[in-house]
Amino acid sequence: QVTDKLATENPSSPSYDWFQTDSLVTIVIYTKQKAISLDSVIVDHQDGSFRAETIVKDCSYLIHLGLSHEVQEDFSVRVVENVGKVEIVLKKRENTSWKCLGHPLEKHNSFIPKKDAGLYFRKCKLISKEDITHDTKLFCLMLPPSTHLQVPIGLHVYLKLTITGTEIVKPYTPVSDSLLSKFKEPILPNNKCIYFLIKIYPAGLFTPEFDHLQIGDLVSVSSPEGNFKISKLQELEDLFLLAAGTGFTPMVKILNYALTNIPSLRKVKLMFFNKTEDDIIWRSQLEKLALKDERFDAEFVLSAPNSEWNGKQGHISPALLSDFFKRSVEKSKVLLCICGPTPFTEQGIMLLQDLNFSTDEIHSFTA
Ligand code: FAD
Ligand code: NAD
Repeated sequence: QVTDKLATENPSSPSYDWFQTDSLVTIVIYTKQKAISLDSVIVDHQDGSFRAETIVKDCSYLIHLGLSHEVQEDFSVRVVENVGKVEIVLKKRENTSWKCLGHPLEKHNSFIPKKDAGLYFRKCKLISKEDITHDTKLFCLMLPPSTHLQVPIGLHVYLKLTITGTEIVKPYTPVSDSLLSKFKEPILPNNKCIYFLIKIYPAGLFTPEFDHLQIGDLVSVSSPEGNFKISKLQELEDLFLLAAGTGFTPMVKILNYALTNIPSLRKVKLMFFNKTEDDIIWRSQLEKLALKDERFDAEFVLSAPNSEWNGKQGHISPALLSDFFKRSVEKSKVLLCICGPTPFTEQGIMLLQDLNFSTDEIHSFTA
């Protein structure tokens, strides 16, 4: 039984404590780090297990308990950023005094590198599905009420479905519901929806099955993964985005966030490679955004255009990149984000380095 403060062997490890009133139980996590925000904490209460994972730098601190008494489904999570403290407030089902918080479950009170923590899934409900292009749809999944999870900008999650008896897991990058709605990141605490733009490949393993889900069906969603750091956007002057096909997905939140939250930003330039005009995701939204915000430009490049196309065409090339990705001022603070099919991304990184962008100035999105 876990009854008291847990001293930890590792001095840099977070620790936790708990206290109660008649109706509430508060679990406090002391991370000993200041760079903690609401998206550093993922809480799940399901199937008799209470799980709170706190991401501290590149490590994961886990509280994993079978609670000693029942609690209500909803709870609140607060972060006191300047002292690195997390508070999870649970509502008791009955106003009795708890003698202990609960019994430890697997890896309780562990502090391990995030890469060793494994994927944890919770079941989310499909609540809407909207056609965006001939093969790409916007899906909205709703987290269960007993989960607190926010996907940080630039990170992806894994979706899992059991297909003919085998679990299939694929990565997808959450997007905003639109490029034009007011950006609200970090999402409101009660915002439970995660949006995805997903291209359906008729011969694919996962996407046709995912597309067959009915509204109300469940799909397992992992905790966020990836290595993009939002601090890369701080004091940025030029943001250059290089996307191919669904490689556009990580750009959505980055571009929304940068235009809304980075006062130093002078220019956001998106070069978006697709096969045909019909493949361009959110083309009219991108065009509207460029009209609305003079800092933003989008250039569409098609590899298989029809004869009516009078825009840029071809594959990624030195000439296309050097013409478009020009700094707004000499030595501006710049970040280049690149995402698409692996050969596209690899070629893009090489070409950008040839154009004298440093490795620090380039972020590529991969699995
Ligand atoms: P697969 O079974 O992987 O097949 C894909 C295509 O390749 C099909 O056309 C299939 O016919 C063909 N194919 C399969 N095997 C072969 C073969 N041996 N030879 C030739 N052709 C073959 N996708 C999105 O749509 N949206 C996202 O937000 C998104 N985010 C991602 C984030 C990350 C970090 C990564 C790595 C990928 C992301 N993807 C995203 C891609 C996604 O993970 C899947 O790869 C994609 O959905 C295809 O999955 P599938 O199982 O349906 O198709
Ligand atoms: P697609 O096949 O429709 O191609 C889009 C464009 O990519 C083409 O018009 C072409 O300009 C370029 N392209 C394609 N193959 C190329 C090659 N071999 N060399 C150079 N350029 C090439 O693209 P799609 O079906 O939408 O696929 C998008 C890809 O992006 C998938 O492989 C997906 O896994 C990847 N993706 C990765 C992430 C991530 O890592 N975070 C996120 C989203 C998508």
